[in-house]
Amino acid sequence: MSNQIYTKYKKMSQERSVSIYNNKIKDEILRAKVKYGSVDLNSVLNKIIGAFPEAKNSIKEIVDEIKKELKNSEKMSIEDAEKILNKKGVELTKAKEENKELKLEGDTSKVIMRIAPNPSGPLHFGHARMIVLNDFFTKKYKGKLICRIEDTDPERVYMPAYNLILEDLKEFCVEYDVLIYQSDRWEIYYNLCKQLISEGKAYVCTCLSEDFSKLKHKNKYCACRQRKIEENLKLFDNTKLKRGAVVRFKTPETNNPALREFSIMRFKKIEHPYKKNPYNWYPMMNFSVTIDDHLTGVTHILRGMDHLTNTEAQKLIYDSFGWEKPVFNLYGLLKLKGVELSKSKIIKDIKERKYSGFDDPQLWTLRALFRRGIFPYAIKNYLLSLEITKNNIVFDKMALYKENTKIIEPICTHLFFVENPVLIEVETYSGPEKIEILANPKNKNSRLRSLEIGSSVFIAKKDFDELKDGDVFRLKDGFNVRKNNNKFIFENMHLPYLKDEIKLKKIHWLPKSKENFHCQILMTNRTIKKGLVEPFASNLKVSDIVQFERVGYARIEKIEKDNIIAVFAY
Ligand SMILES: [Zn+2]
Repeated sequence: MSNQIYTKYKKMSQERSVSIYNNKIKDEILRAKVKYGSVDLNSVLNKIIGAFPEAKNSIKEIVDEIKKELKNSEKMSIEDAEKILNKKGVELTKAKEENKELKLEGDTSKVIMRIAPNPSGPLHFGHARMIVLNDFFTKKYKGKLICRIEDTDPERVYMPAYNLILEDLKEFCVEYDVLIYQSDRWEIYYNLCKQLISEGKAYVCTCLSEDFSKLKHKNKYCACRQRKIEENLKLFDNTKLKRGAVVRFKTPETNNPALREFSIMRFKKIEHPYKKNPYNWYPMMNFSVTIDDHLTGVTHILRGMDHLTNTEAQKLIYDSFGWEKPVFNLYGLLKLKGVELSKSKIIKDIKERKYSGFDDPQLWTLRALFRRGIFPYAIKNYLLSLEITKNNIVFDKMALYKENTKIIEPICTHLFFVENPVLIEVETYSGPEKIEILANPKNKNSRLRSLEIGSSVFIAKKDFDELKDGDVFRLKDGFNVRKNNNKFIFENMHLPYLKDEIKLKKIHWLPKSKENFHCQILMTNRTIKKGLVEPFASNLKVSDIVQFERVGYARIEKIEKDNIIAVFAY
C-alpha cells in the first residue's frame, strides 16, 4: 500500500513541478534579458536548481525547455521583456535574498545539524519548522544534514511511518546527507549507560513511579541512590526486573522537578517491532539524543522552546561524559490552533473512517497539504519568513496561503464552476455565439477559454433561488438578463449596464453543452461540492492547479471521461 502511495506522490510531484519550472524558466530568461541584455543557458539552469533542488531529477526536460524559451526570447526586445515581467509582477531588482537575516550562532565553518522524526505517523505541519530551519541552515553554511529516525520507544512505533516519513521528506524536497536509525544503536546506548553506572553517575531505580514522583516533589532521594556500584551493575544485567525499573542520572540540586534525577534508560521486556533490542533496556529520549548528537558530530541544535528542560538534561549528560557541547538554540513555538496534530489520534480516526487516510484534506499532514496543492516551497517560504526568537508565534493560515498563491497564481487556470446547476432559458437572446476569456486573467499570454453562449445557460441553484422578479443580473463575462414574471429576458451585452454605478449581481454560468465536465471538489470540511465545470477543463492534467471562480483554488486529482475530481486548497 505504501508503495502505491509513494508512486502516486512521485508522479504527482513530477507533473506538478514541470509547470512550475517552466514558469520560472520564462521569468529567469526575461529577467536576465532585462538585466544583462543576453541570457546564458547555464545561469538559468543554476537558478532553477537553486530554487528547486529536486529539479535535478528532470535536468534533460528542463534544459530542453530552457533552449525552447531562449529561442522564443531571441526576437524579443528588452522593453517587451520588461513589460511582460511587470505585468506578471516579477521583481526586477535582484530578487530579495530570502532570510538574509537568519543566522546561526557560533562557529559555522563546519555545520552539522539534524532532523529527528519519530516513526509514529507521517510528518505534519507541526514538524515542518524544525525540518525547514535545519535544512535551510545546513544548505546555507554548506554543512551536513542528518536525518535521525528516533524510534527508541517500541510502543510508539507505527511501522508504516518509517516509509511515510521518508516519502514526506522527499516530497518536501528535503535532502539529508546521512540517515540514522536509533534502533541500530542499542549497543551504544547500553554500553554508555553502563559506563555512567560504573562511574557512580547513574543508578538503577526499582521504585514504583508514583512513589518516586512523591519523593521527587519533596526534593528527596529514593533509597536506590545509595546502592553500591556493583549492585547497580548486577541489577542492570538482571533480565528479570519488573517493568518500570529505570536507570536514573544523578543530577545536581535543581528547582526543576522535571529535571531532578531524570531517567536515562527504562526496562521494558517488549520486542522492538523494527530492530530487535537484545538488552531489554531502552534509552530515554534525552540520553539517546545526546549520545547520537555527540557521536555524529552535531554542531548546532535548533529546536522549539518546548525542549527547554530537555536541553538542560542533555547538557548535564554532555558534562558527565566530558563531551564538548554543541550550540543550542531554542526558538519560540508556532502555535497551531484548530489543527489536529496528535498522530495517535489521527491513526485512530482513520481506523474509524473519520478521515479517509493520512492525506485527507481535513488534516494538516504534509501529504494532505501537498494533495490540496500547497507547495513545499510555499510552506518553506512561510516558515523561513518567521523570525527566530524566543517568542511564540500564532500560526496564520492566510500567510501560508499567500505564499502559496504567489507560486500558483501565474500558472493556475481559471474556470467557471456551477454548483448544483439549474438550466434557464433566456428569451430574445441576440448576442454572439461564443465568448473568449483568458485562462489566466493575470497572464495576458495565457490561452483563451472559449465558451459557447446563447439562450440556454446553467446557473447555480443557490443563485437561481435568490433571484427575485424584476432583478437584473449579469452572467459573468457574458450578458445581462432581467427576470420578469418568472421568465428570463435578454437585456443587452454591455457592461456597465447603467451609467450610474449600479452594481449588477454577477452570476457564474455555463453553456448547455455536452462538453461540460461533471466536477466534484473535496472540501477541507469533509463535504463535497458537486457541479459542472466548463469545457476548457479538457485541457487539464492531473496535479494542475485551478481556480474555480467563486470557490477557490484546487488541485486536480483525477480526470475520467467527463468527470473531474479536485481537492480544495483554500
Ligand atoms: Zn528508587
